[in-house]
Amino acid sequence: MSTPIKIMPLGGVGEIGHNMMVIKTPSECIIVDAGIMFPHDQVYNLQYLIPNISQLDVNLTTSLLITHAHEDHIGAVPYLKKKIPHLKIYASPFAREIIKIKLAQKMLETDKLDLSLDLSKDSNKNEEQSLLQDENQIYQDDAQDAIETQESPSPSPSLSPSLQPFLGTYYSDSDLILIEDNSHFSFKEIDIYPIRVNHSIPETYGFLIQDKKKCYSLFYASDCKVDNIKNENGTITEHDFDFKRLQELSKNSQRKFLFLDSTDVMFEGKALSEKDLIAPIEDIIITENNKDERERGRIFITFFPSNIYRLQTIIDLALKHNRKIVFYGRSLKQYAAKAQSCGYLQDLNRVLVDEDELKSMRSSEAIKRLELIVLLTGCQGDLKGALNRVVSGQDPLFKIYPGDLLLFSSRTIPGNEKRLTKIYNKIYEQGGRIITAKEKRIHASGHGGAIDNKNIIDLYNPSDLIPIHGETYYLYKHIEFINKNYPQIKTHLLLNSDELTLDSDNIDTLLIEKGTPLPPLFMLDNGIAIEKTSINTRRKMSSNGVVFVTLLVSNPGIDIDINLDLENRVELSVLGFPLFINEYLPLLKERLIQISQSNPPPNKEILKSVLKKFFKKFFETAPVMEIHIVTLA
Ligand SMILES: [Zn+2]
Repeated sequence: MSTPIKIMPLGGVGEIGHNMMVIKTPSECIIVDAGIMFPHDQVYNLQYLIPNISQLDVNLTTSLLITHAHEDHIGAVPYLKKKIPHLKIYASPFAREIIKIKLAQKMLETDKLDLSLDLSKDSNKNEEQSLLQDENQIYQDDAQDAIETQESPSPSPSLSPSLQPFLGTYYSDSDLILIEDNSHFSFKEIDIYPIRVNHSIPETYGFLIQDKKKCYSLFYASDCKVDNIKNENGTITEHDFDFKRLQELSKNSQRKFLFLDSTDVMFEGKALSEKDLIAPIEDIIITENNKDERERGRIFITFFPSNIYRLQTIIDLALKHNRKIVFYGRSLKQYAAKAQSCGYLQDLNRVLVDEDELKSMRSSEAIKRLELIVLLTGCQGDLKGALNRVVSGQDPLFKIYPGDLLLFSSRTIPGNEKRLTKIYNKIYEQGGRIITAKEKRIHASGHGGAIDNKNIIDLYNPSDLIPIHGETYYLYKHIEFINKNYPQIKTHLLLNSDELTLDSDNIDTLLIEKGTPLPPLFMLDNGIAIEKTSINTRRKMSSNGVVFVTLLVSNPGIDIDINLDLENRVELSVLGFPLFINEYLPLLKERLIQISQSNPPPNKEILKSVLKKFFKKFFETAPVMEIHIVTLA
């Protein structure tokens, strides 16, 4: 029997972020990843964007498979789970723990919404709501805070006591299905096999998707590179890219597709291994340790907190060179807590200093004397991150002192350069120093370069390649690379909402239907979706200002006897203009009063045109206008 399947990306192709790939069979719809994308700048309270899933048949959608726990792959899971309550979520142990935090947060937000909608029923709830608002205010600093209020039922005995409050236990495990190295998920028309790949976060998987007769194999590799990550002292035990399983399972397929990461496709070399960073970071620590005691400062390191390997490297080096570690920033503590509960982060308890212990010292001089490595969140200069707080002198515990060294063990995401430059300036102004990944090998990308990609292609030997993850021109560059190096491989461009159809009975035929991508959903920082038109209004209000006009008019032919002089027939107020507008407002008001007396009375369009002309003439702008005409009977 014929088994057509359709593959449709809903996000993450032709752009970087909010990854989502949909696999449709005649009876089921399976999603791979549900990520978010951060807007270029966090403006108008807009926090992130998520793929628009209105093209999905919710009733047929049964399962969500997660490749790894980065935000651009799991950030939209709570939204999806809320829209599709019967959804089963397949994730590795570590990804599952991170997803639980997200689901817990979503439940808090839902509680908050339910409560606010319920207020009319019970006035006593006002008090509860204000408490909730207070909590929310606190949580705004870092939404992850919410987890702190719950206790873990069975914290891992090895978990550092100071990390235990960060585990969180809001969510039951019943809908979360574990992905392991040998897992096999059998759906009605297809089989899916997780394949270990390497990336910058533990337990990253690609998925091999096959029809029941194994006529075709589709390897969805997602974010990956090829890295032998195990270190000499055995503290990092991450598995290798599982080419053996990939080859074994796909060897008899007539047609083999590869969906491959395009993020670093223009890098001609091989992505650095996490192991390559050990020596350069160690050299820096040794140089600092060898300094005279009066010159010796603390070492601050900022990096993406989900990079548990990087954290392990720093733990190992701290232990070896007698430095203590402090976690500063909630997301760092959460990732570390989850990692430790999954068996990662060897020896952490031997080097970790509790933040409360430091707080009890009170004297910043005493803290300064400690030989510390302070790990900071906010490596992109985020306003609310620990790095920005410390560097800008707003932090109660840490300040930058002469001698302090700050390592930026991360890449700069395009768009954040200016913000980070300001931070670098401030560090030097206070006597500190920085080292970035441009100067020393202190950051490794999680995405493969040309050599990694060749390695994957050579060992999997695909017949067809579809580039994924990357701006549109990255996808074209990826296709150029394949055409040049592997002319025998067919390449296909599949953009968001395009649909690729394959049929096991007619494996040589492949159909790609062009789709119309829907705009993503814009999410505010309270987790509520907002329409694009409303975002546009916010943008216009912030850049052009707002004008409010209320006009009282009388019905034609009715001689109303109101004790209202002409002056009070018009209410006019403005927001967001230069103060000298006050010199012009009487002029505008006079004109509006004049219009209010016209017969027949003016309508909104007439008023709009008067306002438009006024603001164009004096301010060269078109503000948002809110006009109310009240007709007096
Ligand atoms: Zn990733």
